[in-house]
Amino acid sequence: MSDFTLRNAVVITGGGDHATIGDVAVVDGRIASIGSGIGIRGEAVDCGGAWLGPGFVDIHTHLREPGQEWKEDIETGSRAAAAGGYTAVVAMPNTDPAIDSVELARYVAARGAEVGLVEVAPSAAITVQREGRELAELEELCAAGVKLFTDDGDTVADAGLLRRAMEILAERDCVVAEHCIDPGLGAGGQLHEGEVSARLGLPGVPSAAEEIVIARDLALVRMTGARYHAQHVTTAGAVDLIAGAKEEGLPVTGEATPHHLLFDHSYASGADPVYKMMPPLRTVEDVAAVRQGLRGGVLDIVATDHAPHADHEKERPWAEAPFGVTGLEWAAAVVNTAVDLPAEDLFKVMSTVPAHIAGLARQGRLEVGAPANLVVFDPAAPAPVSSTLSRSSNSPYFGLELRGAIVHTIYEGKFTVRAGRLVGTSGDVG
Ligand SMILES: [Zn+2]
Repeated sequence: MSDFTLRNAVVITGGGDHATIGDVAVVDGRIASIGSGIGIRGEAVDCGGAWLGPGFVDIHTHLREPGQEWKEDIETGSRAAAAGGYTAVVAMPNTDPAIDSVELARYVAARGAEVGLVEVAPSAAITVQREGRELAELEELCAAGVKLFTDDGDTVADAGLLRRAMEILAERDCVVAEHCIDPGLGAGGQLHEGEVSARLGLPGVPSAAEEIVIARDLALVRMTGARYHAQHVTTAGAVDLIAGAKEEGLPVTGEATPHHLLFDHSYASGADPVYKMMPPLRTVEDVAAVRQGLRGGVLDIVATDHAPHADHEKERPWAEAPFGVTGLEWAAAVVNTAVDLPAEDLFKVMSTVPAHIAGLARQGRLEVGAPANLVVFDPAAPAPVSSTLSRSSNSPYFGLELRGAIVHTIYEGKFTVRAGRLVGTSGDVG
Protein backbone atom coordinates (compact mmCIF):
# COMPACT_ATOMS: atom_id res chain seq x y z
CA MET A 1 0.00 0.00 0.00
CA SER A 2 1.55 3.31 -0.98
CA ASP A 3 1.78 6.25 1.39
CA PHE A 4 0.63 9.73 0.42
CA THR A 5 -0.08 13.17 1.83
CA LEU A 6 -3.24 15.08 0.97
CA ARG A 7 -2.14 18.71 0.77
CA ASN A 8 -3.82 22.08 0.71
CA ALA A 9 -7.24 21.13 2.14
CA VAL A 10 -9.71 22.53 4.63
CA VAL A 11 -9.41 19.62 7.06
CA ILE A 12 -12.63 18.69 8.89
CA THR A 13 -11.81 16.67 11.97
CA GLY A 14 -15.09 17.29 13.78
CA GLY A 15 -13.29 19.28 16.46
CA GLY A 16 -14.50 22.60 15.07
CA ASP A 17 -10.96 23.70 14.26
CA HIS A 18 -10.87 23.88 10.49
CA ALA A 19 -10.00 27.51 9.93
CA THR A 20 -6.62 26.79 8.41
CA ILE A 21 -5.54 24.98 5.33
CA GLY A 22 -3.69 21.81 6.21
CA ASP A 23 -2.42 18.41 5.17
CA VAL A 24 -3.24 14.84 6.10
CA ALA A 25 -0.61 12.11 5.77
CA VAL A 26 -1.67 8.51 5.17
CA VAL A 27 0.84 5.78 6.03
CA ASP A 28 0.09 2.05 5.78
CA GLY A 29 -3.60 2.80 5.22
CA ARG A 30 -3.99 4.85 8.38
CA ILE A 31 -3.97 8.55 9.18
CA ALA A 32 -0.46 9.28 10.40
CA SER A 33 -0.57 13.04 10.94
CA ILE A 34 -2.85 16.05 10.50
CA GLY A 35 -1.95 19.74 10.37
CA SER A 36 0.10 22.31 8.54
CA GLY A 37 3.81 21.80 8.04
CA ILE A 38 3.58 18.11 8.97
CA GLY A 39 6.08 17.08 6.30
CA ILE A 40 5.27 15.04 3.21
CA ARG A 41 4.98 11.27 3.59
CA GLY A 42 4.96 9.45 0.25
CA GLU A 43 3.35 11.13 -2.74
CA ALA A 44 1.96 14.67 -2.39
CA VAL A 45 -1.63 14.93 -3.67
CA ASP A 46 -3.16 18.39 -4.03
CA CYS A 47 -6.70 19.06 -2.82
CA GLY A 48 -7.01 22.56 -4.28
CA GLY A 49 -8.28 24.10 -1.05
CA ALA A 50 -11.36 21.83 -0.99
CA TRP A 51 -12.93 20.25 2.12
CA LEU A 52 -11.27 17.07 3.38
CA GLY A 53 -13.24 15.00 5.87
CA PRO A 54 -14.18 11.45 6.81
CA GLY A 55 -15.68 9.52 3.88
CA PHE A 56 -19.44 9.71 3.49
CA VAL A 57 -21.59 6.93 4.97
CA ASP A 58 -25.00 6.08 3.52
CA ILE A 59 -27.18 4.02 5.83
CA HIS A 60 -29.98 3.58 3.28
CA THR A 61 -28.77 2.02 0.01
CA HIS A 62 -30.60 -0.48 -2.18
CA LEU A 63 -27.93 -2.59 -3.87
CA ARG A 64 -30.50 -5.09 -5.28
CA GLU A 65 -28.23 -8.14 -4.77
CA PRO A 66 -29.19 -10.91 -4.39
CA GLY A 67 -32.02 -11.35 -6.83
CA GLN A 68 -32.49 -8.15 -8.83
CA GLU A 69 -29.12 -7.69 -10.44
CA TRP A 70 -30.63 -6.24 -13.61
CA LYS A 71 -31.27 -3.08 -11.56
CA GLU A 72 -27.96 -2.93 -9.65
CA ASP A 73 -25.51 -5.24 -7.94
CA ILE A 74 -22.96 -4.86 -5.19
CA GLU A 75 -20.22 -4.02 -7.69
CA THR A 76 -22.09 -1.36 -9.68
CA GLY A 77 -23.62 0.08 -6.51
CA SER A 78 -20.17 0.24 -4.91
CA ARG A 79 -18.83 2.14 -7.92
CA ALA A 80 -21.66 4.67 -7.71
CA ALA A 81 -21.06 5.01 -3.97
CA ALA A 82 -17.32 5.63 -4.34
CA ALA A 83 -18.06 8.19 -7.06
CA GLY A 84 -20.33 9.97 -4.61
CA GLY A 85 -17.59 10.19 -1.99
CA TYR A 86 -18.88 7.28 0.10
CA THR A 87 -16.60 4.89 1.95
CA ALA A 88 -19.44 2.86 3.47
CA VAL A 89 -23.02 1.96 2.69
CA VAL A 90 -25.60 0.00 4.63
CA ALA A 91 -27.36 -2.34 2.21
CA MET A 92 -31.13 -2.50 2.59
CA PRO A 93 -32.56 -5.99 3.06
CA ASN A 94 -35.48 -5.80 0.59
CA THR A 95 -33.68 -8.04 -1.88
CA ASP A 96 -34.97 -11.30 -3.34
CA PRO A 97 -34.81 -13.24 -1.09
CA ALA A 98 -34.92 -10.61 1.65
CA ILE A 99 -31.89 -10.51 3.95
CA ASP A 100 -33.36 -12.10 7.07
CA SER A 101 -30.67 -14.67 7.94
CA VAL A 102 -27.05 -14.65 9.05
CA GLU A 103 -26.10 -16.53 5.91
CA LEU A 104 -27.53 -13.87 3.59
CA ALA A 105 -26.12 -11.00 5.66
CA ARG A 106 -22.67 -12.60 5.50
CA TYR A 107 -22.97 -13.03 1.75
CA VAL A 108 -23.63 -9.30 1.24
CA ALA A 109 -20.73 -8.25 3.47
CA ALA A 110 -18.35 -10.72 1.82
CA ARG A 111 -19.33 -9.67 -1.69
CA GLY A 112 -18.81 -6.04 -0.70
CA ALA A 113 -15.36 -6.84 0.65
CA GLU A 114 -14.52 -8.72 -2.55
CA VAL A 115 -15.45 -5.68 -4.68
CA GLY A 116 -13.43 -3.55 -2.26
CA LEU A 117 -14.57 -0.04 -3.20
CA VAL A 118 -16.61 0.76 -0.08
CA GLU A 119 -17.50 -1.00 3.14
CA VAL A 120 -20.80 -2.78 2.54
CA ALA A 121 -22.57 -3.37 5.85
CA PRO A 122 -25.71 -5.47 5.63
CA SER A 123 -28.87 -4.49 7.45
CA ALA A 124 -31.47 -7.19 8.04
CA ALA A 125 -35.23 -7.49 7.92
CA ILE A 126 -37.19 -7.27 11.16
CA THR A 127 -39.67 -9.92 10.03
CA VAL A 128 -39.17 -13.13 8.05
CA GLN A 129 -39.01 -12.16 4.37
CA ARG A 130 -40.40 -8.72 5.34
CA GLU A 131 -43.85 -10.30 5.46
CA GLY A 132 -44.76 -8.75 8.81
CA ARG A 133 -45.89 -12.10 10.28
CA GLU A 134 -43.06 -13.39 12.47
CA LEU A 135 -39.77 -12.00 13.66
CA ALA A 136 -36.57 -12.84 11.80
CA GLU A 137 -33.68 -14.44 13.75
CA LEU A 138 -32.85 -11.12 15.40
CA GLU A 139 -30.64 -12.50 18.20
CA GLU A 140 -28.49 -14.47 15.76
CA LEU A 141 -28.23 -11.52 13.36
CA CYS A 142 -27.16 -9.19 16.18
CA ALA A 143 -24.61 -11.74 17.35
CA ALA A 144 -23.26 -11.86 13.78
CA GLY A 145 -22.71 -8.10 13.84
CA VAL A 146 -25.79 -6.69 12.10
CA LYS A 147 -26.62 -3.35 13.70
CA LEU A 148 -29.58 -1.96 11.81
CA PHE A 149 -32.91 -3.71 11.23
CA THR A 150 -35.69 -2.62 8.91
CA ASP A 151 -38.49 -3.96 6.74
CA ASP A 152 -37.82 -0.96 4.47
CA GLY A 153 -40.26 -0.79 1.60
CA ASP A 154 -42.91 -1.67 4.15
CA THR A 155 -43.84 -0.52 7.63
CA VAL A 156 -44.01 -3.16 10.36
CA ALA A 157 -47.78 -2.90 10.67
CA ASP A 158 -48.24 -5.13 13.73
CA ALA A 159 -47.37 -3.03 16.79
CA GLY A 160 -47.15 -6.14 18.98
CA LEU A 161 -44.55 -7.68 16.69
CA LEU A 162 -42.61 -4.41 16.54
CA ARG A 163 -42.67 -4.12 20.32
CA ARG A 164 -41.08 -7.59 20.65
CA ALA A 165 -38.48 -6.67 18.03
CA MET A 166 -37.66 -3.47 19.92
CA GLU A 167 -37.30 -5.40 23.21
CA ILE A 168 -34.83 -7.84 21.63
CA LEU A 169 -32.85 -5.14 19.80
CA ALA A 170 -32.77 -2.74 22.78
CA GLU A 171 -30.95 -5.38 24.84
CA ARG A 172 -28.32 -5.66 22.13
CA ASP A 173 -27.91 -1.95 21.38
CA CYS A 174 -29.16 -2.43 17.81
CA VAL A 175 -31.34 0.01 15.87
CA VAL A 176 -34.90 -0.33 14.60
CA ALA A 177 -35.19 1.67 11.37
CA GLU A 178 -38.70 2.23 10.08
CA HIS A 179 -40.15 2.99 6.66
CA CYS A 180 -43.05 5.07 7.93
CA ILE A 181 -46.19 4.73 5.79
CA ASP A 182 -49.35 3.37 7.37
CA PRO A 183 -50.32 0.52 5.01
CA GLY A 184 -54.03 1.28 5.26
CA LEU A 185 -53.84 5.03 4.74
CA GLY A 186 -51.13 4.65 2.12
CA ALA A 187 -52.81 1.79 0.25
CA GLY A 188 -52.72 2.33 -3.51
CA GLY A 189 -51.17 5.77 -3.05
CA GLN A 190 -49.14 7.01 -5.99
CA LEU A 191 -47.92 10.42 -4.83
CA HIS A 192 -48.57 12.98 -2.08
CA GLU A 193 -52.28 13.50 -1.43
CA GLY A 194 -52.84 17.12 -2.44
CA GLU A 195 -53.54 19.35 -5.39
CA VAL A 196 -51.14 17.53 -7.73
CA SER A 197 -52.64 14.09 -7.06
CA ALA A 198 -56.11 15.58 -7.45
CA ARG A 199 -55.22 17.16 -10.79
CA LEU A 200 -53.69 13.93 -12.08
CA GLY A 201 -56.61 11.88 -10.76
CA LEU A 202 -54.26 9.50 -8.92
CA PRO A 203 -54.75 8.16 -5.39
CA GLY A 204 -52.59 10.00 -2.83
CA VAL A 205 -50.61 9.23 0.31
CA PRO A 206 -51.59 11.76 2.99
CA SER A 207 -48.97 13.21 5.31
CA ALA A 208 -50.84 11.53 8.15
CA ALA A 209 -49.80 8.10 6.81
CA GLU A 210 -46.21 8.94 7.80
CA GLU A 211 -47.00 10.80 11.01
CA ILE A 212 -49.29 8.10 12.43
CA VAL A 213 -46.53 5.48 12.15
CA ILE A 214 -43.92 7.73 13.76
CA ALA A 215 -46.30 8.63 16.62
CA ARG A 216 -47.08 4.95 17.21
CA ASP A 217 -43.43 3.97 17.06
CA LEU A 218 -42.45 6.68 19.54
CA ALA A 219 -44.98 5.22 21.97
CA LEU A 220 -43.24 1.84 21.57
CA VAL A 221 -39.83 3.45 22.10
CA ARG A 222 -41.13 4.85 25.41
CA MET A 223 -42.13 1.29 26.42
CA THR A 224 -38.97 -0.47 25.28
CA GLY A 225 -36.13 2.06 25.29
CA ALA A 226 -35.07 0.82 21.85
CA ARG A 227 -32.90 2.93 19.57
CA TYR A 228 -35.19 4.09 16.78
CA HIS A 229 -34.39 5.64 13.41
CA ALA A 230 -37.09 7.17 11.20
CA GLN A 231 -36.12 6.62 7.57
CA HIS A 232 -36.80 9.21 4.86
CA VAL A 233 -38.72 11.81 6.90
CA THR A 234 -40.79 13.98 4.56
CA THR A 235 -43.49 15.98 6.36
CA ALA A 236 -43.46 19.03 8.61
CA GLY A 237 -45.57 17.10 11.13
CA ALA A 238 -43.07 14.22 11.18
CA VAL A 239 -40.19 16.65 11.82
CA ASP A 240 -42.19 18.08 14.75
CA LEU A 241 -42.79 14.60 16.19
CA ILE A 242 -39.06 13.83 16.10
CA ALA A 243 -38.23 17.20 17.64
CA GLY A 244 -40.63 16.42 20.48
CA ALA A 245 -39.15 12.95 20.99
CA LYS A 246 -35.68 14.43 21.24
CA GLU A 247 -36.80 17.02 23.77
CA GLU A 248 -38.23 14.14 25.75
CA GLY A 249 -34.84 12.42 25.66
CA LEU A 250 -35.87 9.39 23.60
CA PRO A 251 -33.11 7.58 21.66
CA VAL A 252 -34.50 8.67 18.30
CA THR A 253 -32.84 9.78 15.05
CA GLY A 254 -34.21 10.80 11.68
CA GLU A 255 -32.97 11.03 8.11
CA ALA A 256 -33.62 13.31 5.15
CA THR A 257 -33.09 12.14 1.58
CA PRO A 258 -31.47 14.35 -1.06
CA HIS A 259 -34.56 14.25 -3.27
CA HIS A 260 -36.89 15.36 -0.48
CA LEU A 261 -34.51 18.27 0.19
CA LEU A 262 -34.57 19.42 -3.43
CA PHE A 263 -38.00 18.70 -4.92
CA ASP A 264 -41.62 19.30 -3.94
CA HIS A 265 -44.66 17.53 -5.42
CA SER A 266 -45.11 20.10 -8.17
CA TYR A 267 -42.27 18.22 -9.94
CA ALA A 268 -44.70 15.30 -10.27
CA SER A 269 -47.19 17.47 -12.20
CA GLY A 270 -46.01 16.14 -15.56
CA ALA A 271 -46.45 12.53 -14.34
CA ASP A 272 -42.82 11.69 -15.15
CA PRO A 273 -42.07 8.61 -12.98
CA VAL A 274 -38.49 9.81 -12.42
CA TYR A 275 -40.15 11.81 -9.60
CA LYS A 276 -42.03 8.79 -8.23
CA MET A 277 -40.79 7.43 -4.91
CA MET A 278 -42.15 6.33 -1.52
CA PRO A 279 -42.59 8.32 0.62
CA PRO A 280 -43.56 10.79 -2.12
CA LEU A 281 -42.41 14.33 -2.80
CA ARG A 282 -44.43 16.57 -0.48
CA THR A 283 -45.42 20.26 -0.38
CA VAL A 284 -43.17 23.32 -0.50
CA GLU A 285 -43.82 23.79 3.25
CA ASP A 286 -42.75 20.20 3.94
CA VAL A 287 -39.53 20.66 1.96
CA ALA A 288 -38.79 23.79 4.00
CA ALA A 289 -39.45 21.87 7.23
CA VAL A 290 -37.14 19.00 6.21
CA ARG A 291 -34.38 21.46 5.25
CA GLN A 292 -34.81 23.29 8.54
CA GLY A 293 -34.88 19.97 10.40
CA LEU A 294 -31.52 19.08 8.90
CA ARG A 295 -30.03 22.51 9.57
CA GLY A 296 -31.23 22.53 13.16
CA GLY A 297 -30.23 18.97 14.03
CA VAL A 298 -33.74 17.54 14.45
CA LEU A 299 -32.98 15.37 11.43
CA ASP A 300 -29.59 13.85 12.18
CA ILE A 301 -28.40 12.63 8.81
CA VAL A 302 -28.78 12.50 5.06
CA ALA A 303 -29.40 9.05 3.60
CA THR A 304 -29.89 8.49 -0.10
CA ASP A 305 -32.57 5.79 -0.40
CA HIS A 306 -30.67 5.05 -3.65
CA ALA A 307 -33.22 2.81 -5.38
CA PRO A 308 -32.22 1.69 -8.88
CA HIS A 309 -34.76 0.46 -11.44
CA ALA A 310 -34.15 -0.48 -15.07
CA ASP A 311 -35.51 1.70 -17.87
CA HIS A 312 -38.02 -0.96 -18.97
CA GLU A 313 -39.49 -0.81 -15.46
CA LYS A 314 -39.29 2.90 -14.72
CA GLU A 315 -40.11 4.37 -18.14
CA ARG A 316 -43.77 3.41 -17.93
CA PRO A 317 -46.97 5.33 -17.30
CA TRP A 318 -46.81 6.77 -13.76
CA ALA A 319 -49.24 4.29 -12.17
CA GLU A 320 -47.29 1.28 -13.51
CA ALA A 321 -43.77 2.50 -12.69
CA PRO A 322 -42.02 1.34 -9.49
CA PHE A 323 -41.19 3.71 -6.64
CA GLY A 324 -37.62 4.95 -6.21
CA VAL A 325 -34.78 7.04 -7.62
CA THR A 326 -30.98 6.74 -7.61
CA GLY A 327 -28.82 9.25 -5.80
CA LEU A 328 -25.50 7.99 -4.43
CA GLU A 329 -23.33 9.93 -6.87
CA TRP A 330 -24.91 13.33 -6.29
CA ALA A 331 -26.08 13.26 -2.67
CA ALA A 332 -23.39 15.61 -1.35
CA ALA A 333 -23.89 18.02 -4.25
CA VAL A 334 -27.67 18.00 -3.78
CA VAL A 335 -27.38 18.67 -0.05
CA ASN A 336 -24.79 21.37 -0.68
CA THR A 337 -27.02 22.98 -3.32
CA ALA A 338 -30.31 22.71 -1.43
CA VAL A 339 -29.24 23.38 2.15
CA ASP A 340 -25.79 24.98 1.98
CA LEU A 341 -24.50 23.60 5.30
CA PRO A 342 -21.21 24.75 6.83
CA ALA A 343 -18.38 22.24 6.31
CA GLU A 344 -18.52 20.78 9.82
CA ASP A 345 -22.25 20.19 9.56
CA LEU A 346 -22.08 18.63 6.10
CA PHE A 347 -19.62 16.01 7.37
CA LYS A 348 -21.70 15.50 10.49
CA VAL A 349 -24.87 14.63 8.55
CA MET A 350 -23.13 12.76 5.73
CA SER A 351 -20.45 10.88 7.66
CA THR A 352 -19.88 11.07 11.41
CA VAL A 353 -23.44 10.63 12.65
CA PRO A 354 -24.52 7.98 10.12
CA ALA A 355 -21.37 5.99 10.98
CA HIS A 356 -22.31 6.22 14.63
CA ILE A 357 -25.94 5.18 14.08
CA ALA A 358 -24.90 2.15 12.05
CA GLY A 359 -22.07 1.24 14.43
CA LEU A 360 -19.36 1.42 11.76
CA ALA A 361 -16.20 1.83 13.83
CA ARG A 362 -13.86 2.22 10.85
CA GLN A 363 -15.89 5.13 9.45
CA GLY A 364 -16.66 8.74 10.31
CA ARG A 365 -13.28 9.48 11.87
CA LEU A 366 -10.56 11.83 10.71
CA GLU A 367 -8.04 11.38 13.50
CA VAL A 368 -4.51 10.11 13.88
CA GLY A 369 -4.50 6.31 13.93
CA ALA A 370 -7.90 5.91 12.26
CA PRO A 371 -8.27 3.93 9.01
CA ALA A 372 -7.96 6.28 6.04
CA ASN A 373 -11.59 6.45 4.89
CA LEU A 374 -11.72 9.97 3.50
CA VAL A 375 -13.31 12.25 0.94
CA VAL A 376 -12.24 15.52 -0.62
CA PHE A 377 -15.29 17.57 -1.61
CA ASP A 378 -15.12 20.89 -3.44
CA PRO A 379 -18.27 22.78 -2.39
CA ALA A 380 -17.83 25.51 -5.01
CA ALA A 381 -17.27 23.34 -8.09
CA PRO A 382 -20.06 23.38 -10.68
CA ALA A 383 -21.51 19.88 -10.97
CA PRO A 384 -23.61 19.23 -14.05
CA VAL A 385 -25.26 15.79 -13.86
CA SER A 386 -24.93 13.90 -17.13
CA SER A 387 -23.93 10.27 -16.53
CA THR A 388 -23.98 7.52 -13.93
CA LEU A 389 -21.93 4.53 -12.82
CA SER A 390 -25.00 2.80 -11.42
CA ARG A 391 -26.53 0.06 -13.57
CA SER A 392 -29.73 2.10 -13.62
CA SER A 393 -30.33 5.68 -14.65
CA ASN A 394 -33.59 6.53 -12.86
CA SER A 395 -32.17 9.73 -11.43
CA PRO A 396 -34.16 12.97 -11.16
CA TYR A 397 -30.92 14.98 -11.26
CA PHE A 398 -29.94 14.51 -14.91
CA GLY A 399 -29.69 17.86 -16.63
CA LEU A 400 -29.36 19.81 -13.39
CA GLU A 401 -26.43 22.10 -12.58
CA LEU A 402 -25.63 21.19 -9.00
CA ARG A 403 -22.89 22.72 -6.91
CA GLY A 404 -20.18 20.60 -5.28
CA ALA A 405 -17.96 17.86 -6.68
CA ILE A 406 -16.06 14.86 -5.36
CA VAL A 407 -12.35 15.41 -5.94
CA HIS A 408 -10.87 12.32 -4.25
CA THR A 409 -12.32 9.37 -2.36
CA ILE A 410 -10.00 7.19 -0.28
CA TYR A 411 -11.19 3.83 1.01
CA GLU A 412 -8.98 1.97 3.50
CA GLY A 413 -5.93 3.94 2.39
CA LYS A 414 -6.47 3.55 -1.37
CA PHE A 415 -7.86 6.01 -3.89
CA THR A 416 -11.19 4.87 -5.31
CA VAL A 417 -11.77 8.27 -6.92
CA ARG A 418 -8.84 10.45 -7.88
CA ALA A 419 -9.09 13.91 -9.46
CA GLY A 420 -12.76 13.29 -10.19
CA ARG A 421 -12.32 9.91 -11.86
CA LEU A 422 -13.13 6.45 -10.55
CA VAL A 423 -9.76 4.72 -10.33
CA GLY A 424 -9.33 2.07 -13.01
CA THR A 425 -11.83 3.66 -15.41
CA SER A 426 -11.68 6.45 -17.95
CA GLY A 427 -14.98 8.15 -17.15
CA ASP A 428 -15.49 11.26 -15.06
CA VAL A 429 -17.65 10.75 -12.02
CA GLY A 430 -20.90 12.69 -11.66
ZN1 LIG B 1 -38.25 3.15 2.48
